Amino acid sequence: MLDSPLSNYFRLTEKQLKILGKFGLNTVRDLLWHFPSRYEGFAGKKAIVNLVPNERASIHARVIKTEAKKTFRKRIKIASATVSDETGSLEITWFNQPYMASILKAGEDYTFTGTIKQNKLGKFSMQNPVFEKGVVEANDMGALIPIYPETRGLTSRWLRFAAKRILDHLEAEPPLGGSASLKEPIPEDILKKYNLPSLRIALREIHFPRDLKWAGAARKRFAFEEIFIIQLLRQSWRKEREEHQSFLIKISKKELDNFTKTLPFSMTGAQAKAINHILEDISGQKPMSRLLEGDVGSGKTIVALIASLAAIQNGFQVAYMAPTEVLARQHFEEFIRRLGPPASGANIKIGLATSSEFLKYPSKAFAGRPTHIARAPLLKWLASGEIQIIIGTHSLIQKKIKFKDLALVIIDEQHRFGINQRLKLTQKNSERVPHLLSMTATPIPRTLALTVYGDLDLTLLDEMPKGRKQIITEIVSQERRAEAYEHIRREISSGRQAYVLCPRIEDTDDLMRAVKREYKTLSEKIFLEFKVAMLHGKMLPKDKEKVMKQFREGQIDLLVATSVIEVGVDVPNATVIMIEGAERFGLAQLHQLRGRVMRSEYQSYCFLFTESDSQKTAARLKALTEAKSGFELAEYDLELRGAGELTGKQQWGISDVAMEALKNIKMVEAAREEAKKIIETNSLEKYPELSSRVIAQSKQLHFE
Ligand code: ADP
Ligand code: MG
Repeated sequence: MLDSPLSNYFRLTEKQLKILGKFGLNTVRDLLWHFPSRYEGFAGKKAIVNLVPNERASIHARVIKTEAKKTFRKRIKIASATVSDETGSLEITWFNQPYMASILKAGEDYTFTGTIKQNKLGKFSMQNPVFEKGVVEANDMGALIPIYPETRGLTSRWLRFAAKRILDHLEAEPPLGGSASLKEPIPEDILKKYNLPSLRIALREIHFPRDLKWAGAARKRFAFEEIFIIQLLRQSWRKEREEHQSFLIKISKKELDNFTKTLPFSMTGAQAKAINHILEDISGQKPMSRLLEGDVGSGKTIVALIASLAAIQNGFQVAYMAPTEVLARQHFEEFIRRLGPPASGANIKIGLATSSEFLKYPSKAFAGRPTHIARAPLLKWLASGEIQIIIGTHSLIQKKIKFKDLALVIIDEQHRFGINQRLKLTQKNSERVPHLLSMTATPIPRTLALTVYGDLDLTLLDEMPKGRKQIITEIVSQERRAEAYEHIRREISSGRQAYVLCPRIEDTDDLMRAVKREYKTLSEKIFLEFKVAMLHGKMLPKDKEKVMKQFREGQIDLLVATSVIEVGVDVPNATVIMIEGAERFGLAQLHQLRGRVMRSEYQSYCFLFTESDSQKTAARLKALTEAKSGFELAEYDLELRGAGELTGKQQWGISDVAMEALKNIKMVEAAREEAKKIIETNSLEKYPELSSRVIAQSKQLHFE
């Protein structure tokens, strides 16, 4: 029954079906799992004449007339209705729900429940009430009315009716036996241990709760279930990997010291600790699965580089995958700089593979510089082991690429890759699986990390290299634009460099600043004395690289760019970033962007411009000016907005209910522990329903 289309149970018009489809509500299951976002209680029933300002009340009244209009100043859509009972009449208003005016029918009776407001003139009104047709007593609906997430053209009222009908239907089925539609996936002892309601009860209570406590318990159960299933899958991946042997990689302390001596800086404590963890992991038979999570600029690359050095010293190969060509190229150059002679004497052979070019270092023709090579020799040299470290974009996962002894896979900015892409690269070797080092700067709350990275061990780089100053972030009003430009002028004049970030490449409308136009304005009108250049995703790779090279070498003072520079770009001399249309970027992205200028001892600045005057935007951007680290920002976002744009629920494939639950570390840890137990004892098969849910989850990820 759960998988049958809704049209089997409801008479639906084409239009209704289309709207339902738009919200992903196609089957009975979709509808049952479309949970209310909140509940409203019926309040004491009152006659209109007895209403009191700022009090919730229910009234039974007849609609006299309805109207839809817009407020003058803010252009908010308003629906209003005049209603009356025997004792008087009352105005009812809905903000931003203009369709309410067409739902209510003049001359018909309804029960409205909401809060009474009094305006300056003393007039009463009821705002955004819930309502039911006819005269409804509290007991008819249960004490609480579910309110579903705002869905245009689909009322909470209809969803309520539909959910009730289906639940009644399900409850009429025999509770036990193979034919029951609702199968409990969570093992019974776990339900008992954590005091979670069964699936059947939870479904009823999440839609039509007895009270808020029951509603909460039901939500908790669904959140637990979801996190539990994610954990089961992650733990099973982990187990699968651990059943394979990996490569023994050893490096002596002396070798390590010899190398670190060549660096222009000494490691932070956090870096040293991370390196120790990694070296210990890779010196064992079991494949390492480690996530290195460190704020932008915390120095992850050098940690990866040292792990790579260890691998090649043992005669193995390394693959280093980065999400963009610019970044791959930058890593390639850094590896040459740090590992190529004369720095290390290691005499290392490194390749670069992106979708547009292949390079090899060193080249025969010019010592100390890389040369372009064709694809065929690159493939040959990877297969023969001649190239020891290959750095590249996702082009590294092509089937054609074969390695001799790939012992270490490094994935930079791993959140930018699909799970599938990540898995593919670590499966490059048939008998032994390579060690995996994933890196990310996406500051995500700990509970989310435990969930979505449940198959990885976590190391935090929670310490910045010494001498870094706190960045100064400021939201700048349009009137003070000239001041911001002057600030940039001063920075560049004293030898620094700057970025101007725009959300788009081309103009689409007048409001949004685009790279091409800003480039023109800034180079021709504002910064005539400086070298200004632009960088965006539609440029040819070789042009992009040329611009990045010139910027890195200080020949370009000001770079007007899109968020192509978002990840990883490392030009320590740049100290100002000005971000246009900041409201169009997520908080994590903004934090990444400002990370471009937090890379030296110079004081750095981030100026945020926004075209939006909404309060929400203001609050969001303000968080950015106050948060000291990305992690703080992540926790903040989780606290304030639950699912949040920062983490992007699509990105993690987690529902709102589960995202909410991530605030509860105890629950996340419990789900993780229970999942671990089941996987470690190989007992998932004992629970057929659970097992099929885990398989479904895995299939879903592989189709991404
Ligand atoms: P991220 O963690 O964002 O990838 P990077 O690895 O790009 O950071 O490092 C940022 C900058 O800091 C680079 O210029 C790097 O050379 C430098 N750096 C790394 N570690 C240290 C350190 N311990 N002391 C000083 N500078 C460092
Ligand atoms: Mg990086």
